[in-house]
Amino acid sequence: MRFSRFFLPTLKETPAEAEVISHKLMLRAGMIRKLAAGIYSYLPLGLRVLRKVEAIVREEMNKAGAQEVVLPMVQPAELWQESGRWEFYGKELLRFKDRHARDCCLGPTHEEVITDLVRREVRSYRDMPLNLYQIQTKFRDEIRPRFGLMRGREFVMKDGYSFDVDEKASGKTYLAMYAAYQNIFRRLGLQFRAVEADTGSIGGSFSHEFMVLAETGEDTIVSCTGCDYAANIEKAEVILPVENPSANQAFSRPLEKVSTPGRRTVEEVTSFLGIPPQQLIKTLVFLVDGQPVAVLVRGDHEVNEIKLKNLLQAQEIALADEALIRRITGAPVGYSGPVGLPVKIVADQAIQGMYDCVAGANEEGHHFVHVDAGRDIHADLYGDIRLVTAGDRCPRCRQAIRLSRGIEVGHIFRLGTKYSEALKAAYLDGEGQERYMVMGCYGIGVSRIVAAAIEQGHDESGIIFPVAIAPFDVLALPINVNDTVIREAAEDIYYELLSRGFDVLLDDRDERAGIKFKDADLTGIPFRVTIGTKFTKEGLLEIKVRGTGETLFVTREHLVQTLLNMHSERIPRCLQQG
Ligand code: ATP
Ligand code: MG
Repeated sequence: MRFSRFFLPTLKETPAEAEVISHKLMLRAGMIRKLAAGIYSYLPLGLRVLRKVEAIVREEMNKAGAQEVVLPMVQPAELWQESGRWEFYGKELLRFKDRHARDCCLGPTHEEVITDLVRREVRSYRDMPLNLYQIQTKFRDEIRPRFGLMRGREFVMKDGYSFDVDEKASGKTYLAMYAAYQNIFRRLGLQFRAVEADTGSIGGSFSHEFMVLAETGEDTIVSCTGCDYAANIEKAEVILPVENPSANQAFSRPLEKVSTPGRRTVEEVTSFLGIPPQQLIKTLVFLVDGQPVAVLVRGDHEVNEIKLKNLLQAQEIALADEALIRRITGAPVGYSGPVGLPVKIVADQAIQGMYDCVAGANEEGHHFVHVDAGRDIHADLYGDIRLVTAGDRCPRCRQAIRLSRGIEVGHIFRLGTKYSEALKAAYLDGEGQERYMVMGCYGIGVSRIVAAAIEQGHDESGIIFPVAIAPFDVLALPINVNDTVIREAAEDIYYELLSRGFDVLLDDRDERAGIKFKDADLTGIPFRVTIGTKFTKEGLLEIKVRGTGETLFVTREHLVQTLLNMHSERIPRCLQQG
């Protein structure tokens, strides 16, 4: 590709709308442009990166035995009603009516469509295992689209679905997909980690997320410093300390109501009463499928809403509003407490055994002291409902844990028979018995990967693409196209590299060298070959490695072999030259 003909509108200024570095750089490097909130056009440079990510994903999926299909984006409501998700998916599902007033939606995921396809075509155990995938645009009407391609409303996903005869076979497929994902993210050149995950609205019994490690990640990852345990914080289990604090309980003092005027937050109440936050019982009122529930955690802990939802087997939970809190507790926010509260009470396991502690008195400006959980609190249910903290221990080996940030780029699930039962996807086994197919599903955020790669690879001058997904392998940069020797050498290098299978961008613009160098750094092409005065005087070409800043000089004869040696992906690739 010639730079002079390439549609590459780079920007000098950082656009104000972008918060994270990948979004800023993608706009500046002319990779994407916004059409509406969370909806972007891919310009040629951005599309080249996207296509390279897709190619690696496709290759590894094919290698693992999956077959590519393309499923419709517009889906009839009936299928979603059959699975029950028409009601439960919520507002992320973009619904509309066609001209015949039939309810439809834009596919945010394709469990229903694929299960419908397979139930019509697959009848026998002989037709399985079957593993199908697609790479396609999804639509999710995200409440807060942000960070450019990171959380879009329209985005590219690879979604795959497997069908097996039983749990054992399905487990084998899951492991094969897990391995394929390891290969994919390794080949993409990303620093990543596979973590145990919650199964969310997709459902199912078991899942892993693949996280790209980055400060700007929206997810928190818990990992052990001693063993290989790693989990999303949504999922990470809390283990109780070995010693039981209630064992030290000397005596229980009578409950006493004290005045705490204007003190509502944990901070305010504990400093007013001169106690540490772990001596306070925090009471939060939630609406769980429309019913009020009081939820108790220690003052220094936070509720993990996912665990709470799972423990209560609820469809929907949300914090109650001020008016409801008043109606239920008889007091404004900040004074809720479990003692004598006439609603269902769910308490974190750490509450059990707490004594001589503080809780709201359900009366404005008052708290109880000397609360003894065993004596004064009648919880309906105790369980692990809090977020892990950095001070907790590994649930597997009790070593110290570490919290870090990650970007979820892949998610694999074992679905069991959730969808096959709902949609009646059955087959006949060897004995002629009818059984439900056992499913798995496997997602990769293809467009999000582009953003995640830039979060991991950049410096103050611009993008540093992993070699495997860079839009071009080599940038040929003649410093002065009006010099005939330089121009002709550049043209010659351009054609030779193309013929050897490299993706090459030739900066044939009649621009100052400084401007060309700036654009070279901004667009992150891994190898820059500069054809300048050193070439006209000494016959030497400069190769600059974008990732390391390393430069070396080679003669014209050694250029191609040197680049082949330095390039980690095999050349030529199976991609079309642009
Ligand atoms: P998140 O928790 O980030 O919303 P999710 O759990 O809803 O993700 P899945 O349903 O597992 O996501 O979708 C598979 C993959 O698609 C995710 O791992 C992620 O990489 C990607 N993805 C999901 N939502 C978006 C989005 N709004 N924009 C870009 N990529 C997304
Ligand atoms: Mg989501």
